[in-house]
Amino acid sequence: MALQRRGILTQPVTCARCGEQESAEHLFLQCDFARQVWSLLPTTRPLRNMMADFDHVLSSSAELTCLPPTGISGNIFSWVCWCIWTARNRLIFENRTLDAEEVICSALRLAREWHNAQLTKSQATGTVRNDYTPVQANASTRLYTLHTDAAWRALDRTAGCGWIIYNPDERGTTTGTSTELCVASPLMAEALAVREALLQAKALHLSNICLKSDNQVLIKALNSKQHPVEIYGINLDIESLSFSFSSISFVYVSRNSNSAADALAKSALYSVNY
Ligand SMILES: [Zn+2]
Repeated sequence: MALQRRGILTQPVTCARCGEQESAEHLFLQCDFARQVWSLLPTTRPLRNMMADFDHVLSSSAELTCLPPTGISGNIFSWVCWCIWTARNRLIFENRTLDAEEVICSALRLAREWHNAQLTKSQATGTVRNDYTPVQANASTRLYTLHTDAAWRALDRTAGCGWIIYNPDERGTTTGTSTELCVASPLMAEALAVREALLQAKALHLSNICLKSDNQVLIKALNSKQHPVEIYGINLDIESLSFSFSSISFVYVSRNSNSAADALAKSALYSVNY
């Protein structure tokens, strides 16, 4: 029995995805699937030395840092490897196939949850917030409407984000603003406004959300999960955050219908002097 078991363990294991011999290097770095996963990671620079042995890549992975909009400042390497490993196990033991985007999405979510657990809330978000007023208790079954908007200044790439949460019993609204630096485009600013609004909705323990924005490109991307490259990381954050709610929908509204959120966004932007 012992011999038999030893015999089984010494059999070369083949990769469940491509049939090549499975090693740490193949599974985590060199398999086409692993390469696809790494290529989706929004980092300051790509993972290097993919053909080196695993220990070598691990030891040089400290430089692998996610770009700012993802909200992750620590090393992401181990989270990606962990999610490649669990995706491999799901395929083998449950016959369930996760695609590369799902693997990256999980890795970013886990890294962010861990990161946020280490910091206080204000440190973790890295944004300037104000204007919070408490939402009514018993928020679990009501449908809350969130209007979001952003204002962007090309000169210093600063964005003001504004959002309003409409209380369904019409007894009031909750508003919030944030100011974001190093924002590459108006579209990115709009996506950041959505993310900030959902972070607040989550903090308020709201369950059912209808989020409205006047940016058609963003709403289309969020509904189709086809994210433009420039906002890929932020939209993955939004996707991850969406799991915090019992229900959530993303709806396009005209600019006229979004004027209150627009005013908040502009005031947030103008509060930062250029
Ligand atoms: Zn493979």
